Amino acid sequence: MKYFILLTDGLADEPITKLNNATPLEAASTPYMDLIASAGHYSMLSPTPKGCTGGSEVGNLTILGYDPRVHLTGRSPIEAAAIGIDMAEDDVALRCNFITLSNEADYSQKRILDYSAGEITTQEAGVLIDALNNAFANEKLDYHLGLSYRHCLILHHEGVNMTLTPPHNALGERVENISPKGDASNILYSMMEKSYDILSNHPINLARIEKGLNPANSVWFWGQGRPMTLPSFKEKYGISGGVITAVDLVRGIAKCAQMNIYSVEGATGTIHTNFDGKAAKAIDAFKNGEELVYLHIEAPDECSHQLDVHSKILSAECADSKLLRPVLDYLVGCGEDYAILIASDHPTLSQSGKHSSADVAYAMYFGKAGVYPTSSTVINFCEATATQNSNGKAADGLKLMESFIKGKYI
Ligand SMILES: [Zn+2]
Repeated sequence: MKYFILLTDGLADEPITKLNNATPLEAASTPYMDLIASAGHYSMLSPTPKGCTGGSEVGNLTILGYDPRVHLTGRSPIEAAAIGIDMAEDDVALRCNFITLSNEADYSQKRILDYSAGEITTQEAGVLIDALNNAFANEKLDYHLGLSYRHCLILHHEGVNMTLTPPHNALGERVENISPKGDASNILYSMMEKSYDILSNHPINLARIEKGLNPANSVWFWGQGRPMTLPSFKEKYGISGGVITAVDLVRGIAKCAQMNIYSVEGATGTIHTNFDGKAAKAIDAFKNGEELVYLHIEAPDECSHQLDVHSKILSAECADSKLLRPVLDYLVGCGEDYAILIASDHPTLSQSGKHSSADVAYAMYFGKAGVYPTSSTVINFCEATATQNSNGKAADGLKLMESFIKGKYI
């Protein structure tokens, strides 16, 4: 038996006026998702357990069957696991974004212009991370390179009670209104302030400005936490699992769950990602004996944060034709029974750019070896049809994986 999960990060959304009140998923042409839903089962799902806030760490943990209320210690410890940082129990990991601030003289009066510093490249970021370690690293703290604008600061033997603001939820905000509060807030603020002097005159940024790109002229901290531990996926479900993703967050969850992690050249987490390479890697993993493949696609979430509805629709269509179709073709012909699950980890609203804790549409299909899915009627798989089919009751996200592996619809 082979299990394939297509996790379309942040694809779920609300009806959009300029799409005639359709959602991006509804407006997108996704014939293979429609077929899987029509031939199998589709409904609404709650990927955000009660008491949690919708987001990738909560949604991906939940869909993998790990209760975030038990295991989640913060976003950055997950990314630290992905980077391969060994944390002591009383260490704190903090997400360190490179951001773009406006240029008022007083640091506290500056505003957040861009939470991703124009999606700076990892190569450029590496030079800047070295500059930060030269200036700040000591026995109490050190910076670690992640991907693009997403990096990690480790504070050793430090308290974790801090109030920090995710920059993508604070575009246009003045620093003074959202500066760090609580444990280590003085250290963090003084590093933020000094980072502006170090970074804004750095050759990397002068070159970016020259090219008309946003400079990474400040660090910004959020998502703090202690190290995360998870029971292994194999122990939990009795089968091996592999994960394909471009983002450290999902790679970190996979690492903590001791799943196999597959990297794909050119996987960027944006609409320009290597869709074909990701599909080929999934098929390879199955050919090499992997029983379950969790293929995570970040592009819909990233397009939503950029308020780019058109690219979000395109990301759904690419996920359908460049990921689902080739993997489905392989599974039908692989000689084993197979199962397919399509879900989002949370909605990301492409009108506001913000995450939501609302329910999402999902589809599940169990196929026999050699049999291609068919259905006399094919629905348009989306939030509207899934809501209709749910009879007002969304499935519990925490029960999804167990049910999927047992071959049962929920
Ligand atoms: Zn997400």
